Amino acid sequence: MSKVRVRFAPSPTGFFHIGSARTALFNWLYARHTGGVFVLRIEDTDAERNTDEALKALTHGMRWLGLNWDEGPDIGGSYGPYFQSQRGDIYEEYLQKILDSGHAYEKDGAIWLKISDEPQVFLDAIRGRIERKEDKDFVIRRSNGAIGFHFANVVDDITMEITHVVRGEDHIPNTSKHLEIFKALGAPPPIFAHIPLILKSNGPGKMSKRDEGSLLEEYEKRKFIPEAVRNYLCLLGWSPKDDREILPIEEIIELFDLPAINKSSARFDSQKLAHFNTEYIRKLSIENLAWLSRPVLAEAGVIDEDLDEDYLQDVLAISQEKMRSIENLPEFLGYFFNNDYPIDPSAKEKIFKKGSPKERLQEIYNALSSQSDFSEATLETTVKTLCSENAVGPGDYIMSTRLAISGQGVGPAFYCLLRVLGKERVLFRLKRFIDALSTVGEQI
Ligand code: GLU
Repeated sequence: MSKVRVRFAPSPTGFFHIGSARTALFNWLYARHTGGVFVLRIEDTDAERNTDEALKALTHGMRWLGLNWDEGPDIGGSYGPYFQSQRGDIYEEYLQKILDSGHAYEKDGAIWLKISDEPQVFLDAIRGRIERKEDKDFVIRRSNGAIGFHFANVVDDITMEITHVVRGEDHIPNTSKHLEIFKALGAPPPIFAHIPLILKSNGPGKMSKRDEGSLLEEYEKRKFIPEAVRNYLCLLGWSPKDDREILPIEEIIELFDLPAINKSSARFDSQKLAHFNTEYIRKLSIENLAWLSRPVLAEAGVIDEDLDEDYLQDVLAISQEKMRSIENLPEFLGYFFNNDYPIDPSAKEKIFKKGSPKERLQEIYNALSSQSDFSEATLETTVKTLCSENAVGPGDYIMSTRLAISGQGVGPAFYCLLRVLGKERVLFRLKRFIDALSTVGEQI
């Protein structure tokens, strides 16, 4: 069998929509699964609606998702040009062919395709047999000379030797027109695979560009992990047929196939995508996590650009498990870098309900002041000793101390928190908290 050649053929008229990104992804997956070629072709015949900005959003978005193309803009290839706006001569040549063969005619300055009497039947790789009958001839070149979408699309698929057309099911009505053109040109059609729609997260209907979360660039802006977004998009219409959802792209490439794509629509779920992102954050190496976090923390003014890398990595290492996103790190980790942090009122209320923690805080302050070793094991021994001396449980020290030194009721493992903050910060914060309790009573 000849080598698989698939293409993603967007029209650069707006933002890069999640649905288009998923179409690009499925083409890319199929090319990688079969060892074939993934072509990026820009369908920019509508000069009035195309913008450079949209083209940039598209190529940038594809690179961000790691969907590298083997032929197309920037890299070329032997089937170019890859912009329809530069393929006018090819379309004219094929128009002539179709006119010469008597399958098209000129009327009112436009060129029309003469449709056949029979319906067009094709075996869709996902949906099975589809039969449709065009009811009237249609224009393939307008009277102003502009080549119609259907004609350019088919001539490109023929001349680029595309073997599989993988595109959204909203194109099914176009496919019978395309088959008429293939037939008129005497060219064998490719295999079609129409992938299911993506429904909006709440309510019926297709996800549109106005729906929240529908633009790919939002995820980059919000510092999502691109591999997480890509993994999530893979599952919009495809699944590995077991319970797994988060799996490495190499494995997805191996398992992916066109008949494995669902016929039924997929529903977009932004919470699930956020969950995937969290899972991918947990898997990052500390070096990578630091590389992603540093600019976000610096931009929010939480850290200076030249903050010590070891401290940043220590903070991230003990916090990674509980992180939800990169975008909320400035609030989530702020207290590690700045002595001015808010005290969570509900955490405070919970602790103070059991009585003032002042005495316990003073005891732990005294014990830690005379201790130079801030390793976790030693810190734990110190707290245990305090517990037996004062006949209280570790929770009595841990909760109030955590509140005093971080403002939070929850966070990294307690002894890790003490170790990473270090003696100086811990003592300073404890003392300030205790002093505030003495001056304003319980109203801190
Ligand atoms: N330019 C068309 C679109 O963006 C391409 C359709 C196709 O893949 O054939 O919908």
